Amino acid sequence: MLTIPWNSTTGWGTPKIQPYAPLQLDPSSTVLHYAPTLFEGLKAYKGKDGVPRLFRPDKNMERMNRSAARLAFPTFTGDNVTQLIKKLVEIDADWVPTDPGTSLYIRPTMIGTQAGLGVGASTDVLLFVIASPVGPYYSTGFKPVKLYATTKDVRAWPGGTGGYKLGSNYAAGVVPQQQAAALGYQQILWLFGPEHRLTEVGTMNLWVGLKGTDGVLELVTPPLEDMILPGVTRDSILALARDHASGKRKLAGLPDKFTVSERNLTMPELVEASRNGTLAEVFGSGTAAIVSSVDGIGYEGELVKVPCGEDGLGDITRVMLREIVGRQTGDIPSEWSVPV
Ligand code: PMP
Repeated sequence: MLTIPWNSTTGWGTPKIQPYAPLQLDPSSTVLHYAPTLFEGLKAYKGKDGVPRLFRPDKNMERMNRSAARLAFPTFTGDNVTQLIKKLVEIDADWVPTDPGTSLYIRPTMIGTQAGLGVGASTDVLLFVIASPVGPYYSTGFKPVKLYATTKDVRAWPGGTGGYKLGSNYAAGVVPQQQAAALGYQQILWLFGPEHRLTEVGTMNLWVGLKGTDGVLELVTPPLEDMILPGVTRDSILALARDHASGKRKLAGLPDKFTVSERNLTMPELVEASRNGTLAEVFGSGTAAIVSSVDGIGYEGELVKVPCGEDGLGDITRVMLREIVGRQTGDIPSEWSVPV
């Protein structure tokens, strides 16, 4: 693991890469009381040439710095931490698996380590990075999931911290997730406001494909504002979809008449689209699963049907999976792929 301590008087300390081991923390450390903690998640993929590659680490470092600023933690030069993560992956290169769909999951974290029970900016912070090999998210092929659209619990709100990757955003989601699971749903669909605006799926960004009356397929995702986590996968899908829509780089499998919108959609609009046949597909996106197709949404006592292909993927979902995996493994040359 990689550790870098920070202190408000002496600044950043010397980075160390050492064997994975427990941390020693004072029981009064701020992180254990007021939750000043943030994290990131990215993966190293080994392509056919055996070289581990990071996928868009600059985006994770940018988001980590935004989270750090929100917690009154020190910020850092993203490129420098990326260099250290590369060094860690190089040392652990034998732990990067090679089977299709496998990777080394990398978890950069920052915690407030100041000893003392006062609430305030932590004078001591620890940045650390751990890693673990992970198998394919779907070991038995892609299986669409059913979502439970909760009208009771709220993940994020205007002026809140939902747009930052803070540990405190996640603890409160566990009970709603357990309740959805007890009802037979795999993931929560987080709604917001009396109009039941769609926001995110579990810990993934949300996408909806809609067939327009003019034969145009529209890919919709909610605008970031301050309630949606700026996903690296979200940003990648937006870039690929916009290049296809503008004709800059056409993607096989997507119709020519195609538009991309960052706009809000409500549950009543989705229910109507499912009823009148204009709903094409719904999926989530994130580093863990890349994409996850949805085939039904439990909402106000009814199951809203969502179309899904026989392979468990919608048409847009299938294309995005192929394009992103290709870039992660180095099969499709891309500046997003950073060899270690
Ligand atoms: N939303 C939330 C709430 C998340 O925790 C994640 C996972 N980081 C995402 C979206 C997807 O982000 P990414 O594509 O960067 O993994």
